[in-house]
Amino acid sequence: MNVQTFGVIGSGQMGNGIAQVAATSGLDVVMSDIKIEFAEKGLAAITKNLGRMVEKGKIEADQRDMILSRIKITADLGGMSEVDYVVEAATEREDLKFKIFEDLDSICPDHVILGTNTSSIPIGRIAARTQRPDKVIGMHFMNPVPVMKLVEVIKGLATSEETFTVTWDLCEKFGKTPAEANDFPGFIANRILMPMINEAIFCLYQSVGKPEDIDTVMKLGMNHPMGPLALADLIGLDTCLAIMETLYDGFKDSKYRPCPLLRKYVEAGWLGRKSGKGFYDYS
Ligand code: NAD
Repeated sequence: MNVQTFGVIGSGQMGNGIAQVAATSGLDVVMSDIKIEFAEKGLAAITKNLGRMVEKGKIEADQRDMILSRIKITADLGGMSEVDYVVEAATEREDLKFKIFEDLDSICPDHVILGTNTSSIPIGRIAARTQRPDKVIGMHFMNPVPVMKLVEVIKGLATSEETFTVTWDLCEKFGKTPAEANDFPGFIANRILMPMINEAIFCLYQSVGKPEDIDTVMKLGMNHPMGPLALADLIGLDTCLAIMETLYDGFKDSKYRPCPLLRKYVEAGWLGRKSGKGFYDYS
C-alpha cells in the first residue's frame, strides 16, 4: 500500500510532532483538531520548531517552507476522507477515542489504516468500535516526537500482517526505529515507565524528598536524562493519570493505583508544562 497523504487527529504536543515528522518525510499531511484555533496553535508550534532547526543549520529555509507547505489544517474530521493513513493523537480518554474511531470508520475509505498514538488504551477495545479491526493498530510515538527515535508498534488481536508491515515501514520512512509490542494495557513503554513516575510522586506525597532531590537521585544515581517528576510535567499530568487509571483498570492490581497527589494536581488544573505548573513552575 502506497501512503501519500497522512492524517493526524489532534494537534497538541504529540499530534503536531507527528505531523512534522510525516511532512518532513515527504508526505502530504492533514492535521485536525476540535477547533481551528487549536490546529493553528499546533501549526505554529511546528513552524517554531522548524525555524529553530534552520537557525541551527540543520535544514535550509526553503526546506522548512516546503515541509510547511505540505501541512493542511482543519477543524473538520471530514477532511480525513482524502488521506491514506490516519494516526489519532487526541486527548487520552477512552470515550473520546471511541467516538473518533467510529466517525473515522464512516469517513475514511475501506482501505485506510487507522492508527492510534494512545499511551495505554487497549488497541482491541478501540478496534472493536470499527468495522475494520484488521486495519487498526497502535503507533505510539515518544515525546518530543521530532527528537525521539522510538515508535512502539502495537498489534491488536485482529490487526493484520499487512497493517503491521505498512505501519512498520512508515516508522522507518519517518526516520524512527520501531519496536513491536502486543496489546496489554500500557504496552511496553508505559507499563514500565508510568509506575516509576507514580512511585516518584508517592515519594513527594509522603515527603520522602523534594521534587529537585527526587529528580537528582534518578538523574545522577540511575543515569536517567530527566528526573521522573520533570518527565511527568513534560508528558502532561492528565495523561499520566489517565495511563495509571488504564493500568489499574486493566490489571486490577493495586500496584498500579494512581498516587492521590497526582489526582489532586490534575483536579487543580496543574497539568505540567502545558498548563505552566506541575511539579515545577513554568510561568
Ligand atoms: P495534548 O493535550 O497536548 O493534545 C491533545 C489534543 O487533542 C488537543 O489539542 C485537543 O484539543 C485535541 N482533541 C481532543 N479531542 C479531539 C477530537 N475529538 N478531535 C480532534 N482533536 C481532539 O495531548 P498529547 O500529549 O498530545 O497526547 C495526545 C495523545 O498522545 C494521547 O493519547 C496521549 O496518551 C498520547 N501520548 C502522549 C505522550 C506525551 O508524552 N504527552 C507520549 C506518547 C503518547
